[in-house]
Amino acid sequence: MARRKKAPLPLLENLEIIDAGSDGKAIAKTEQRVVFIPFGAPGDLVDAQAYKKKRNLFEARITKFHKKSDLRVEPECSHFGLCGGCKWQHMAYETQLKFKQKQVKDAFERIAKVEYEEFLPIIGSSEQYYYRNKLEFTFSDRRWLTDYDPSKEEGGPADTNGLGFHLPGMFDKILDIEHCYLQKDPSNVIRLEIKKYALENDLTFYNVKRWEGLLRNLIIRTSESGDLMVIVVFRYDDMDIKGLMQHLADKFPEITSLMYVINEKKNDSISDLEVRLFKGNPFIMEKMPSPKGEKDFDFKVGPLSFYQTNPKQAYQLYKKAFEFAEFKGDELVYDLYTGAGTIAAFVADSVKKVIGIEYIESAVEDATENMHLNNIENTKFYSGDMARVLNDEFIEENGKPDIIIVDPPRAGMHDKVIKQIINAAPEKIVYVSCNPSTQARDVALLAEHYDVKKIQPVDMFPQTHHVENVVLLRKKANG
Ligand code: SAH
Repeated sequence: MARRKKAPLPLLENLEIIDAGSDGKAIAKTEQRVVFIPFGAPGDLVDAQAYKKKRNLFEARITKFHKKSDLRVEPECSHFGLCGGCKWQHMAYETQLKFKQKQVKDAFERIAKVEYEEFLPIIGSSEQYYYRNKLEFTFSDRRWLTDYDPSKEEGGPADTNGLGFHLPGMFDKILDIEHCYLQKDPSNVIRLEIKKYALENDLTFYNVKRWEGLLRNLIIRTSESGDLMVIVVFRYDDMDIKGLMQHLADKFPEITSLMYVINEKKNDSISDLEVRLFKGNPFIMEKMPSPKGEKDFDFKVGPLSFYQTNPKQAYQLYKKAFEFAEFKGDELVYDLYTGAGTIAAFVADSVKKVIGIEYIESAVEDATENMHLNNIENTKFYSGDMARVLNDEFIEENGKPDIIIVDPPRAGMHDKVIKQIINAAPEKIVYVSCNPSTQARDVALLAEHYDVKKIQPVDMFPQTHHVENVVLLRKKANG
């Protein structure tokens, strides 16, 4: 039966781009609709072909420039325009910062709709490229080919294997990456070597639709102390694994932790899987200066533990959170979503006690060990889902906190967690977030009991639209 053809979406002419938008897409407006335009810059005058329509908005791709914005600069990376990684490279860093500041401000004005006392200027990152300590790549037997449609049966190059990043919004399309400007070498060299070895030795690349192919993901983690972790994720156990891992061990003696995972599941998450050690240590060591810089903390970070991905800027972030808290020395502090216990360690010397809660059990083990490593004795950690762990009995047992520091993932906090925080009634809440929209939503829920004192955006992710934000909340006199 013939399918009814959908009406073609319009070509939108003479659109003026007016904002950089909050999820990396630039924004224009027609009379009826808001238009989201990837890789646009405010000030561009363009024609754009709509490719998606939702109730009151279009998503559209630029087809012609009538005028290019003065804010545009030449992107550094050859993958710009396709890769989902660094969508703001076409704007100078100062411009990026301005729009990140605006993004946070918009979130607090439109979503949180709360009064605030001080909105501080964003803190920029000292490094604007090669700042990340962790990248995750995906293998695909159907890499994205710009001049060839892989969904068609014929006409493309014979080799369609690729190793790189997902194209934005396309779970099954991988952009093969030549050089990535986000992580310093040997990240690029290792990735290219693995691809070369795989092609030369006929190792199969993953096909997400058919759930086939040996090579699935690659994770590379570097650290401030010079450690280097490489994790290769395979779809199934196979004789070829040893050959590849041994090749990496021989070729890159600088890898201090060489690991692999067999992931037979449909989803890519490895947090519930065994990470096997092939060579070296089952962790990397990170280091970070203490709040006043008089010593360094050493942090052990296992393959499944979170560590801030821009480590230099993480120090600026932590210092802000520390400064906002204005510790007197006798406080009981809860560090919620503590990861490997880094914030807990950072503040422990300045308070009476820190209680940390974290989902990933092995991260909690790292946190506990990190306290020993740094001779910190006034902390305690619990593992589990925040919404379950942080209950009335927990607060009764551990005591009512004077200050709560939270640093949840992008989704923000569960309603139950917010209720429990209100219940625990700390004098101050320091809310660290990598997603100002969910943070603003959560702050709105806290606003009946807490005043927003300070808002401090911090840029951890240059060249991207992502922004980190620290908010200080203080209990209302009658709250
Ligand atoms: N504060 C830490 C980690 C922040 S990242 C740091 O600065 O390094 C957020 C952390 O929250 C991750 O470690 C993640 O494993 C944890 N997490 C995510 N969802 C959670 C949940 N529902 N309950 C508890 N922890 C959770």
